[in-house]
Amino acid sequence: MRTSIATVSLSGSLTEKLTAAARAGFDGVEIFENDLLASPLTPEEVRDRCADLGLTIDLYQPMRDVEAAPAEEFARTLRRARHKFALMRRLGADTVLVCSSVSPLAVDDDALAAGQLARLADLAQDFGIRVAYEALAWGRHVSTYDHAWRIVEAAGHPALGTCLDSFHILSRGSDPRGIERIPGEKIFFLQLADAPRLAMDVLQWSRHHRCFPGQGGFDVAGLVRHVLRAGYDGPLSLEVFNDVYRQSDAGATAVDAQRSLRLLQEQAGLTTPPAPVVPTGVAFAELVTPDAEPLAALLGALGFARTARHRGKPVDLWEQGEARILVNTTTAGRRESTRLAAVGLESPDPAGAARRAEALLAPVLPRRRAPQDVPLEAVAAPDGTELFFCATGRAALPDWRADFPAAGHRTPRGTGVRRIDHLSLTQPWHHFDEAALFHRSVLGLRAQESVDVADPYGLLRSRAVTNADGGVRIVLTVGPAPADDTAHAQHIALATDDVVAAARRFRAAGGRLLPIPANYHDDLAARYEFADGELETYRELGIFYDRDADGGVFRHCYTHTVGRVFFELVQREGGYRGYGAPNAPVRLAAQHAARGFTGG
Ligand code: MG
Ligand code: MG
Repeated sequence: MRTSIATVSLSGSLTEKLTAAARAGFDGVEIFENDLLASPLTPEEVRDRCADLGLTIDLYQPMRDVEAAPAEEFARTLRRARHKFALMRRLGADTVLVCSSVSPLAVDDDALAAGQLARLADLAQDFGIRVAYEALAWGRHVSTYDHAWRIVEAAGHPALGTCLDSFHILSRGSDPRGIERIPGEKIFFLQLADAPRLAMDVLQWSRHHRCFPGQGGFDVAGLVRHVLRAGYDGPLSLEVFNDVYRQSDAGATAVDAQRSLRLLQEQAGLTTPPAPVVPTGVAFAELVTPDAEPLAALLGALGFARTARHRGKPVDLWEQGEARILVNTTTAGRRESTRLAAVGLESPDPAGAARRAEALLAPVLPRRRAPQDVPLEAVAAPDGTELFFCATGRAALPDWRADFPAAGHRTPRGTGVRRIDHLSLTQPWHHFDEAALFHRSVLGLRAQESVDVADPYGLLRSRAVTNADGGVRIVLTVGPAPADDTAHAQHIALATDDVVAAARRFRAAGGRLLPIPANYHDDLAARYEFADGELETYRELGIFYDRDADGGVFRHCYTHTVGRVFFELVQREGGYRGYGAPNAPVRLAAQHAARGFTGG
């Protein structure tokens, strides 16, 4: 179906918004009146600009406080409408949005509302314009879609139809099945927005917290299915008021928006893009560092061995068990922080994974970096992290390790690390919702609930995306601003069957564990019963402890930080599926306190 987006959903000038929408692949736009009023372009210039960009103007909005008004008030409305309809002719827009009145002057009289809307539609018809009447969730007398439809039906005017808005319908908890009773040709427009489930005033909820479908808690795809069954064939249009999108780059937001509609169309059965190929494990994590020494010391103490070197680039492979870390020193000598730059994901079908990614607008990266390199499918995540689709050790497919001839290094000393348990990727604040949708839609991972964690200097939001068996776990976080390396740290958690033994071996090899305040372990003693000496061991090593509702247990501790990166040793037992979130505020405070303790 055709896709459209309201200009209010994007930041910038009207010209910037139109350009961003067109570049992201939208077919049309809703022009928000304030965007036009603030634009130096004449309506004709806006029309031409849209035409040049290949965009249609699908809606002009909004016209407020029209219906069920006192006679003299309604006369003023018709005068206003005449001006606006003339303007719409100049713009080349043929549908106007009228939202249900919030005026204190409006009366609770459906017959009067229907009569006045019919008179407005009469006038509109003279200009070749259609009126789409929408129930605002906070409308004074009309606040549900079925009520708005009853008024439209009673008016019985060919130039009057209804506009359905998923936010207004789902935020009120209305049953969307009733949409199927509306004749499709009377649904003049469909606006889509999702929102997180929040207990707050619906007007504030709508104005500040709408998000793109798939990013919140509403079943927007389910609603769309009802609208399609009703026979609607107009555009799928996004109308999202969101404080973050208002401030972030319009180009990126428009791509995020278009991706959400591609996923929605797939979910609603309208399209069949290449199916997601869910990754099964982590092949490697790649760290880029201007100075390999501090990382080499840390990895060595963690029991990793440098086993191979890339044949054409300054990239070393460090291994222990199934955990593989690449240390890339291409930025050697530069004033840049050590960071997690790329992740290799084990994929049952790397080429299929890349096709899926492309269909969902993920930037596809060149397959070969150099002529002799093993061709690897790769895409960029919204935060710039490169994701490689790998087939480690599978005969029929190219193995990335072929680029890493064994360097004859020693085998790992080992601390009992088996594999990478999870990766934590800090997102720029304006990419958080986009990142979760990206990992769900492109990689087919499941997103868990978003959690808020107190940091001494702000609030950290965190949301994990995983595959079904936990072979891939990525924790997306967004830290407080202004961001320093502590607030924007990333980490690699390493799975072990015995975190106490691993921590002891790490320390014996010269590694430094993050010191934890005694108050934390005193509190643990109050919350849980431990075997003799157990708590003292945790206290001595700085091991955190958590237990879930089903008796699953998580023990974990942290290394010092190098640049923006630190490591975590984790031991999961009894099916524990979390990440120790209750411990995160103490860990963050300890990291802030230990800033002098970072390794460079
Ligand atoms: Mg709306
Ligand atoms: Mg962690």
